[in-house]
Amino acid sequence: MNKIYDVIIIGAGPAGLSAGLYAGRAKLDTLILEKEKAGGQIVTTEELENYPGSIEDPTGPKLIARMVEQVDSFDVERKIDEITEIDLEKEIKVVKGSKGEYQARSVIIAAGAKPRLLGSPGEKELTGKGVSYCATCDAAFFEDFDVYVIGGGDTAVEESLFISKFARKVTIVHRRDELRAAKSIQEKAFKNDKIEFIWDTEVKEIKGDGIVESMVLRNKKTGEETEIVANEDDGTFGIFVLVGYLPQSDLFKNVIDMDDRGYLLGDENMHTNIDGVFVAGDIRQKSLRQVVTATSDGAIAAIQAEKYIGENFEE
Ligand code: NAP
Repeated sequence: MNKIYDVIIIGAGPAGLSAGLYAGRAKLDTLILEKEKAGGQIVTTEELENYPGSIEDPTGPKLIARMVEQVDSFDVERKIDEITEIDLEKEIKVVKGSKGEYQARSVIIAAGAKPRLLGSPGEKELTGKGVSYCATCDAAFFEDFDVYVIGGGDTAVEESLFISKFARKVTIVHRRDELRAAKSIQEKAFKNDKIEFIWDTEVKEIKGDGIVESMVLRNKKTGEETEIVANEDDGTFGIFVLVGYLPQSDLFKNVIDMDDRGYLLGDENMHTNIDGVFVAGDIRQKSLRQVVTATSDGAIAAIQAEKYIGENFEE
C-alpha cells in the first residue's frame, strides 16, 4: 500500500496494453490491473483481418500475446486483481481490489465491455451447457452439431463464418429482416452453404436438463412460436449469443461522467471529469469500437497521464 505508482491502468485489453506500452516507454512507474487474463474481448476473436499490419497469424490471441510481450519489455508491472472500490477524487488515487490496495498519481480506465445477455428464460442456467458467448472458445465443441447464432451485427455474422468450419449447419437468428453487419461480412455469410437465416425472430426460451435440448423461437411479425428440438442422435445443439456488449462501468457510477448506456465520457485527449483520470477503449463513448481505436485511445491516455504528472507532481 505504501508504493505510489505514476499510473494505474485498469484493464489489460488492447487499450490498457497500449497505454501500458506508452507509459512504460515514457518511464512512468506503471501498474496494469486485470481481473482475469490479459486480452479483453479480442482474445475471443479468431479472425482479425482489420488491424493494420496484422496479416500473418491474424488472430486475437496472437496479437494480444505480442502486445503483452512488448509491454513486459518496458518493465510495466501487471497484476491480476478484481477492482471492487475506487477513490479517484484526491490527488493520490486509490484503487482497491480483492487482493490488495493500490495508489497512483493518475489512473487510466480501460475496463472494456462484456457480452450482452438475451435475458431469455433458461439462458443463464444453460450457459456453458450449450449456450456460449465466445465462438473462439467453444466452436470446436460443436464439431458436426447444429448451431444457432443469435444476433445480426458484425460479431454474430463474422463468428458464424468461423463456427461454420466446425458445425454441420449454422443458423443465424436475427430479430429483424436485415443484418446490421458490414456488407462485406454479410456477403461472405450469404455465400456460405452451411449458413442459413431465420429472420424477424427472437428467442423466447431455452430448455434443457443440464444441457441445451430445445429452444423456443417467436416470430415478431406473426407471433408464431416454433420449438427447435435437438436431433435424436445429437441430443443437443449449440446456441451462440452474440448480441453486442455492455460497458463494464458500474464501479464508476456517480464518479465518472457517463452516458445513459453507461459508456464513460472522455474528451479527444481521453480526459474524464476528474483531473488525472483518463479513459480508453471500448468503455468510452465513441463511434467506432475496434482494436485500432482502442490502442489509439490507450496511447493518447498514457501520454496525457505523463503530461499531467509532469505538470502536477514534478518540481
Ligand atoms: P452490435 O453491432 O451492437 O450488434 C448487435 C446485434 O445483436 C444487432 O444485430 C442487434 O439487433 C442484435 N441484438 C441486440 N440485442 C438483442 C437482443 N436482446 N435479442 C436479439 N438480438 C439482439 O454488436 P456486435 O456485432 O457485437 O459489434 C460490436 C461492435 O464491434 C460494433 O461496433 C462492430 O462494428 C464491432 N465489430 C467489428 C468487427 C469487424 O470490423 N470485423 C467484428 C466484430 C465487431 P439490431 O440489428 O436489430 O439492433
